[in-house]
Amino acid sequence: MNAYKRRQFVSTAVISAVCGSLIPALSRAMATKLNPTDPAAAALGYIENATKVDTKKYPAYKTGQNCASCALIMLQYSPYRPCKLFPKNVVNANGWCSAWVKNTQR
Ligand code: SF4
Repeated sequence: MNAYKRRQFVSTAVISAVCGSLIPALSRAMATKLNPTDPAAAALGYIENATKVDTKKYPAYKTGQNCASCALIMLQYSPYRPCKLFPKNVVNANGWCSAWVKNTQR
């Protein structure tokens, strides 16, 4: 393999590796926002603004809980992020649902 072909091979391999890791992340980021009226979301009381949680209905809710502080959310730096519980959608980082689990890693 001459130098040109080797360089071309390495470039192709690097581009493939970058695209292979970026495309799934981008597709998750472009997923539709979870609708609070979606049956699965509604069953868990998902709302886009955690400060509006109905504390009579969800007495376990504590101020400061939101999707951004939940162990089930993925990616840290976007307003809407993938959640392990709702894999086809993204959730609002300021949202909340009754499945909230404290993230002890952050
Ligand atoms: S499981 Fe966590 S990240 Fe997902 S919607 Fe509920 S509170 Fe938000």
